[in-house]
Amino acid sequence: MKICRFDDNRLGVVRDGMVYDVTPALKKLPAAGYPLPGHDPLIAALPKLKKYLVAKGKGKPVSKVKLLSPVANPGKIIAAPVNYTKHLQEALADKGIHHGNLVHEIHKVGMFLKATSALVGPGEGVKLIHTDRRNDHEVELAVVIGKKAKNVKAEKALDHVAGYCIGLDMTIRGPEERSLRKSPDSYCVLGPWLVTRDEIEDPGNLSVKIEVNGEVKQDAHTSDLILSVAQLIEWGSSFYTLHPGDVLLTGTPQGVGPVKPGDVMVASVQGIGEMRVAVK
Ligand code: MN
Repeated sequence: MKICRFDDNRLGVVRDGMVYDVTPALKKLPAAGYPLPGHDPLIAALPKLKKYLVAKGKGKPVSKVKLLSPVANPGKIIAAPVNYTKHLQEALADKGIHHGNLVHEIHKVGMFLKATSALVGPGEGVKLIHTDRRNDHEVELAVVIGKKAKNVKAEKALDHVAGYCIGLDMTIRGPEERSLRKSPDSYCVLGPWLVTRDEIEDPGNLSVKIEVNGEVKQDAHTSDLILSVAQLIEWGSSFYTLHPGDVLLTGTPQGVGPVKPGDVMVASVQGIGEMRVAVK
C-alpha cells in the first residue's frame, strides 16, 4: 500500500497514479493529550488502520496534489553519513565536500541526527539558505520505523519497519557539524509516499537515482550499502530506542553535487516511485 499526505493535511492512498482521499480514517487515531506522544500516532496505528485505508471514489491524479511528508511527526530523523564506498572516495577526493574534516566510513563516524523541523514533502520544495556556499543534493533510501525497537538484532530488524520512502538529505558543505549543516528548514525531503514494507521484498536490492534539471547526477543501488538497512537498525537501536515514525536515512551514494534556486530535482527509488522537488 502507498500512503501519502497531501494538500491541507489530507491523508491519501495512492494507486495507479491516483490519490484517493481517506482522511476520515484519522478519526480512528487515539485521542492525544498533553504531553503529546514521542512517536508518530498515524504510523503507530497503521496496522489497525489499514482496513480503513481503501482506495475508492473519485481519485485525483498525483500530479494535481501538493504532496507533504508522509510522516508528519517523527520523533527523530537518524541519518547514516558515509554508507557507500564510492561516496567515501569522492568525499575524500573533493575539498568542496570534506572541507578539511576527516571523512571516514560509517563504522568510525556512527550516525547523526537531523532536526525534525527540517522535514518537508516534495510538494513544498527546498528553500536554500547560505546560497553563497555549496548546497548539495543527497538522494537516499529512507526507512520509516513502525514498531518500537531497542537492541534489535539485524535478523529481526525488518520486522520493525513500517515502510519506505525516498529521502533527500540536503546539505550545506562546510566545516561545521553535520547536524547543523543538514538541518535548516526544508533540508529533509520525504516522499512521495510511504510504501508499506510488504511491497518491498528486499530493501538491499533497489536502484536509487536523482536527476537535476533532467541530468542524471546519482544513479546507484542499495546493494552497495556498506551497512544494510537491517544492520543500521541494529546499530541505531543499540544507542537509542526507535519509535514508530522515526525516520532512518540510509546514506547517499556517489554523485552528490550542488543545486541552486530554480533547479528541479527528480528523485526515484525502485519499488517506491519518483518525486519532483523544486529548489527555491
Ligand atoms: Mn546523507
